[in-house]
Amino acid sequence: MKTSILAVGTELLFGQTVNTNAAFLSDKLNHMGFDVMYHFVVGDNPARLKAKLAEAFSDTDLVILTGGLGPTQDDLTKEMVAEYMGKGMHLDKNVLEQLEEFFEKRGKAMAENNIKQAYLPDGCTPFYNASGTAPGFALNTDDKTAICLPGPPREMKWLWDNGVREYLEQFMDKKMFYRVIRTIGIGESDLETLLMPVIDGQTDPTVATYAKEGECTLRVASQRDTTEEAEAAVNEMIERIDSLVGDFIYSYDDEDLKEVVVRILKEKGLTITSAESCTGGKFPAAITDVAGASDVLSSAYITYSNESKIKELGVPAELIDRYGVVSPQVAEAMAIGAKARSGADIAVSVTGYAGPEADPGHEAGEAYIGFAIGDKVGHHDVCTSRNDRKWNRNYILLRMLRAVYQLIK
Ligand code: ATP
Ligand code: MG
Repeated sequence: MKTSILAVGTELLFGQTVNTNAAFLSDKLNHMGFDVMYHFVVGDNPARLKAKLAEAFSDTDLVILTGGLGPTQDDLTKEMVAEYMGKGMHLDKNVLEQLEEFFEKRGKAMAENNIKQAYLPDGCTPFYNASGTAPGFALNTDDKTAICLPGPPREMKWLWDNGVREYLEQFMDKKMFYRVIRTIGIGESDLETLLMPVIDGQTDPTVATYAKEGECTLRVASQRDTTEEAEAAVNEMIERIDSLVGDFIYSYDDEDLKEVVVRILKEKGLTITSAESCTGGKFPAAITDVAGASDVLSSAYITYSNESKIKELGVPAELIDRYGVVSPQVAEAMAIGAKARSGADIAVSVTGYAGPEADPGHEAGEAYIGFAIGDKVGHHDVCTSRNDRKWNRNYILLRMLRAVYQLIK
């Protein structure tokens, strides 16, 4: 079903509020199998709101509006939608009672303009709001449906989970099933090229790629008569994808790399330590984000200065003199030192230039990741060719996680 999202609120146009409602709804609707064709944003202005509503309905059958359902003068979404669809308004007893109760509980008198919220368009399907005061509703004409939801994201999401989602299921004649695959170590365009044999001309399952910082995600989705059929089609497609780009896949179930790393370390009963320079503690921060990290993380060293690398990790000073502190040799020595001193099964290390500046002869984003496991010691080269400090540090962290993943998978 062709769908639009229309966010109402002048604060969205000022850039004071980010339109997260549209992102949330688009994500949910797409996952259900709706085709979201447009996002509109309009200020609290009746004429422009009606104009955008007309535009949205000229090409889509379902329009979901958020914002402007509250009690104040500038909240006019409900009135405009009712007017556009040729419906009158009535006082909804349930909402009125809920409002009275709401104010009574708080020991406050209900302001006159709050009663406005208890009016709903004739013939609508109300979505009563237990997380706030303004109810949402769906309103139909023969072939068009408008759904109005309150602006505050918490309330909008609550109504989505408590009524809206279920209401929308009547429009889905097919069942949707999807899985999200996560990859690392390959760019989006290379991934698409490798996958061309399975995605070219493919209509169902669909395979969509999304690039995130240093990672690529694949969403494989199918719509069939039954969920089982859709699931089988998705799984069959995933097998084909696996045969083409399996080396880059680290999760078939939309897990974060850090979650996957902690899970595998745990399964294998392995402990880990890290020794970091340019990422300044990002590695243990990521690992401890995951519940159960205490089973796997033994310790972490942040050795920013040359002296601390020598003193705390036992990196030989002459190694730093000979090869420079940002070098594969020093990265490996850091890993060896961290492993020996901590007694952990695995050590991962990094030394590099986060940027925006680097020493002469080097560039921002140059880093070396060292690792030590059992008797095995090695390193990976990183070269981001970017002088964006934040991006580099996040990317280097991902590469550290990937290095560990490759050791333990
Ligand atoms: P209220 O009863 O709170 O007035 P409302 O339905 O009238 O609710 P708005 O007044 O339009 O909603 O917005 C209330 C608040 O919700 C805004 O100040 C903003 O913080 C947030 N909000 C509104 N629209 C969006 C949106 N599209 N994305 C994210 N947040 C939003
Ligand atoms: Mg409001």
